[in-house]
Amino acid sequence: MRAPSTRNEVTRSSEDRDQPNMLMLEKYERCNYCNTKLLFTHDLNLSYLEVIECSRCPGCGVSMAPKKFTLQ
Ligand SMILES: [Zn+2]
Repeated sequence: MRAPSTRNEVTRSSEDRDQPNMLMLEKYERCNYCNTKLLFTHDLNLSYLEVIECSRCPGCGVSMAPKKFTLQ
């Protein structure tokens, strides 16, 4: 009687390895120069309904070109 529930637990733990929370919060983009994971900041500009996404390398301090998104 216990066999089916044991099988479910095995399936679940194999999915845990992927850390779904981390993947949703951060993009895995890396610096071209030192391969450090980039930090992203978002500036919300309510008067223009825009979000400006800036990325910066904490390793060597290089800033990448900001990207603009328009909110609809
Ligand atoms: Zn860097």
